[in-house]
Amino acid sequence: MKFHHSTADFFVPDGLEPQAALARTTHLCISAHQDDIEIMAYHGIAECFGRKDRWFTGVVVTNGAGSPRSGIYGDYTDEEMQKVRLIEQRKAAYVGDYACQIQLGFTSSEVKNARERAVVEDLEQIIAVAQPEYVYLHNLADKHDTHIGTVLRAIAALRAVEHKPKKVYGCEVWRDLDWLSDSEKQVLASSARPNIAAALVGVFDSQVSGGKRYDLATAGRRLAHATYFASHGTDQESAINFAMDLTPLVADPSLSISEYVLGAIDRFRADVQKRVGAFQ
Ligand SMILES: [Zn+2]
Repeated sequence: MKFHHSTADFFVPDGLEPQAALARTTHLCISAHQDDIEIMAYHGIAECFGRKDRWFTGVVVTNGAGSPRSGIYGDYTDEEMQKVRLIEQRKAAYVGDYACQIQLGFTSSEVKNARERAVVEDLEQIIAVAQPEYVYLHNLADKHDTHIGTVLRAIAALRAVEHKPKKVYGCEVWRDLDWLSDSEKQVLASSARPNIAAALVGVFDSQVSGGKRYDLATAGRRLAHATYFASHGTDQESAINFAMDLTPLVADPSLSISEYVLGAIDRFRADVQKRVGAFQ
């Protein structure tokens, strides 16, 4: 498999030949940065962990350039820091028992450029071999521009290939999806193996030791969602992530992506309006 950047990294934790390793994929996550996968798609990782009939593959589109650095990483060059982040992502793939971990090495500006075909072409190649049943992407209301660029390129690739997944989820990183109407929320149970969930975010030491406690915040968000999801009854799950259903956008390429997400916001607005109006 040949990718556009010679720095692209293809890691198979159990050492299987890369094409065969990717072909066994059932759950695929495509993220912008190192550590996004472990924050947004733990549901998929947990579904596949230790199984021989389900396999999780992670794809990181960017190269980790421009990361903040402090402490033991304080005097690292940007190139050295990119290497640290690449290794951290490999560590997560090993801990999480992934089928494979692909890091494509694009710059953020390449990903955000709608006329740059290379990102879509690399993703098409991966999807064509992986033929995933479940796909985890960034959600369309995320506030990080590179996340939006990544989900748009991923939708373009999914629309272009013949294989269609059963379900495509838009997941939480730089914005929660608590605001989605309950009937629209895709509930991603994330309670299984809290030790593995914690380790997966914890291995990204260069990010966490920089002062951002992504490890605690990720677990905290999942606990908050599990607790506040329903006001009645006891919690079935102690950790939940929410996702936006992006399956219709892949199934029907004629749908406008921006209208699709704005429709969800309109329904949220109508819900607030109805409740406030009812008790005035
Ligand atoms: Zn990110």
